[in-house]
Amino acid sequence: MGLLGAHVSVSGGIEKAFERGEAIGCDAVQIFSKNQRQWKAPPLEEQTAEKFKTTRANSSVKEVVIHDSYLINLAHPEKEPLLKSINAMLDEIQRAELLGVRYLVFHPGSHLGRGLKIGIDTIAGSLNYIFDHTDSENVILLLETTAGQGTNIGFRFEHLSEIMENVKQQNRLGVCFDTAHTFESGYDFRTQEGYTRVFDKFEDVIGLDRLKVFHLNDSKTDLASRVDRHENIGSGFIGLNAFDYLVNDKRFGSVPMILETPGGENKFKENLALLRSLVK
Ligand code: ZN
Ligand code: MN
Ligand code: MN
Repeated sequence: MGLLGAHVSVSGGIEKAFERGEAIGCDAVQIFSKNQRQWKAPPLEEQTAEKFKTTRANSSVKEVVIHDSYLINLAHPEKEPLLKSINAMLDEIQRAELLGVRYLVFHPGSHLGRGLKIGIDTIAGSLNYIFDHTDSENVILLLETTAGQGTNIGFRFEHLSEIMENVKQQNRLGVCFDTAHTFESGYDFRTQEGYTRVFDKFEDVIGLDRLKVFHLNDSKTDLASRVDRHENIGSGFIGLNAFDYLVNDKRFGSVPMILETPGGENKFKENLALLRSLVK
């Protein structure tokens, strides 16, 4: 069993993530370090970061993951919005560093009509620029697998490996495997054979050592829909078996597994209980 948890709110103070996580039985939490729908955020005060770290030290929540802002697009075809995205990512990294958080999950990007190849090159270029402009090496950026909705890049494992191969400082990158997205993009891990095949493929193309975080979501849409809609565990098209394989997979025993399912905190609690009941 990995470190089971959920994406929790930070309203009322970023350190509130821990009591929310504890209340629903999380071993790990994911947060936004700022409003995810706005470009600008007031800088993190040293005091706020200290409070966050002390609260964490006294919490049963073992691991914290930050998810980046939804506005960031490291594949943007135009110079100005691309730079805005790059600077926002640099800010995200700095915030993560201040908070002592090592994993920052981000969506690879959208090519907005220019095609996958240019999009992938643009993302790699953005990451090279970003890593050249910050030495916060404690923060690892995790490319999230996507459903391939619209012009989103990252719906084949090959996209992610190609991005990584073109980044100079590869030790600063990893992958977040979102079960809903990956299923919606066409990878079928609902049977034992399928599960084995998909993770063998991941090992071949990317390497399992790069898989640092899971997002555990069932899917409201069917296999290969390319439409991203999260569902509660066991209530969607993926179904319980896949989650049974995952939480019992010894290879992922210390990997944070974060719920981003709908329905709020009570639902998270139910989902976590269900997942724990699967553990053999
Ligand atoms: Zn995400
Ligand atoms: Mn996700
Ligand atoms: Mn999603």
